[in-house]
Amino acid sequence: ATGQPAGICPFKMVLLGESAVGKSSLVLRFVEGKFHEYEVSTIGGAYLTQTVSIGDITVKLELWDTAGREKYHSLAPMYYRGAHAAIVVYDITNADTFSRAKVWVKELQHQAASNIIIALAGNKVDLATTTRQVEVADAQTYAEENGLIFMETSAKTSMNVNDIFMAIARKLPKLK
Ligand code: GDP
Repeated sequence: ATGQPAGICPFKMVLLGESAVGKSSLVLRFVEGKFHEYEVSTIGGAYLTQTVSIGDITVKLELWDTAGREKYHSLAPMYYRGAHAAIVVYDITNADTFSRAKVWVKELQHQAASNIIIALAGNKVDLATTTRQVEVADAQTYAEENGLIFMETSAKTSMNVNDIFMAIARKLPKLK
């Protein structure tokens, strides 16, 4: 099949998790290849798109960040309504954020689309040697039990950032 234009499939992906775990930073790293040590809220609001190729399919990822409104949990359904995929982010140096991530996962499993693809990102892995609070094995086990894609990431060093977005993107065309 020559001369066949590849279709562009848009997919909605949301990032959920506690404040300051690095949701905006992961999006900024993935889309623009940048990292800011102090604040990322400039993209607050935040809706960014990134187009990636999966074989001969072009997938347009529409990335939604909760823009600091994760405090207002009641607004959450607005973010994940219609989402094809979600990345639930926690900070490996803060055990509370892992507990909260599990609550987000449960909520998605019960309230979001039944075929939503969920990934769990243990972010700030660059700080693992000094201040790790969440063991990788615990998160791995939890992810396996819940059918989640799982990676430890660093928006700072970019470790696994492309990989986690691409692991999700590869599954998206199969949804349609
Ligand atoms: P959000 O509230 O979840 O969107 O978190 P932000 O993206 O605003 O990040 C919160 C803080 O954590 C900022 O100071 C970031 O620079 C920092 N941060 C984000 N990701 C990483 C990371 O992978 N490693 C380190 N060391 N800091 C990070």
